[in-house]
Amino acid sequence: MKKISLSNISKLYEVISREYDLYAPIKKAGKVNFAKWTDGEEVVFNAQTVRSPKDMFFPQTMDLYSLKMQGKTVEVIDDRSETAPFVVFGVKPCDCKSFEVLDRVFLAEPVDTYYQNRREAGIIVGLGCSAPSESCMCASFGVDNTEPVADVKSYIVDGEMYLDAITDKGEKLLSLIAGLLVDADSTKVDEQKAKTKEINKKLPLQNLDMTRFTADNLNEIFNEEEWEGLSEACLACGTCTYVCPTCQCYDIRDFKTNDGVKRFRCWDSCMYSDFTKMSAGQPRNTQMQRFRQRFMHKLVYFPANNDGMYSCVGCGRCATKCPISMNIAKVIKKLGGKHND
Ligand code: SF4
Ligand code: SF4
Repeated sequence: MKKISLSNISKLYEVISREYDLYAPIKKAGKVNFAKWTDGEEVVFNAQTVRSPKDMFFPQTMDLYSLKMQGKTVEVIDDRSETAPFVVFGVKPCDCKSFEVLDRVFLAEPVDTYYQNRREAGIIVGLGCSAPSESCMCASFGVDNTEPVADVKSYIVDGEMYLDAITDKGEKLLSLIAGLLVDADSTKVDEQKAKTKEINKKLPLQNLDMTRFTADNLNEIFNEEEWEGLSEACLACGTCTYVCPTCQCYDIRDFKTNDGVKRFRCWDSCMYSDFTKMSAGQPRNTQMQRFRQRFMHKLVYFPANNDGMYSCVGCGRCATKCPISMNIAKVIKKLGGKHND
């Protein structure tokens, strides 16, 4: 394990940014979000970003390809530019876990090569939590918030950042900044991990009972009367899906250019009434059905098809951002298991 004093950390950003585009949580217009670091910018470690780092790998909008028409011929042009290696710094353990969920979707056959290119180019520096908040529910989803699964894991304790490379990409990154780091033992980090685990025990959403969410109970949960009440006030605004690190629905659209068409994709939301609308009709006609689909997918369908992995990492963004204060924890408390009352 290595360490660097936080008073020296801007030098670390400088050295990394000479080699890579460096993205980190940065406060702009009063909100903290992952943004490209430039000289003098302060990285904020003690706040959750409004948007998750999924943007780095699955951007909100992305050009796919262009069609150029010349007479009767159509040329297909791949609009991708080569993805240069980049670093995403300060990713919380829940968000690190979200990449595993997204990998299951985008790297399954047929592989989404747009996502794959970015995953291969990205180096993730995870940051262990020391002050989980009341909206955190990662432990309920099996995420250890003291062990970020990333290329490098890091911890901030007593004004110092501790760093440990986990993968070859991580080793390469730490060798780039080796001149700024000194050897460290893990005593203080271990103490902080133990304290964080004690905080987790006192948080209201870190021990939700999920026992009922199994494929065996699929029909029973699907037909619960509680869905009506849970979804009644939903505005269908889609905020929960946009801030969610694991939501991955998208639409593909065409944009007319002077000599052809540009095809791009953009995030979509299963909460929207025109989502999945087809010429054959709309399979989910009511907001209750759309609301139910979102949570059934995260809690039952996805784990049933992915070795028990939930499509929720318990980041709590939906709990803090929904305008009607609805969130996955409330759904679990109503439908999850006998210990949630
Ligand atoms: S953020 Fe809340 S109101 Fe908006 S779609 Fe999600 S559950 Fe409904
Ligand atoms: S459903 Fe809510 S808590 Fe779960 S990953 Fe998405 S935003 Fe985070």
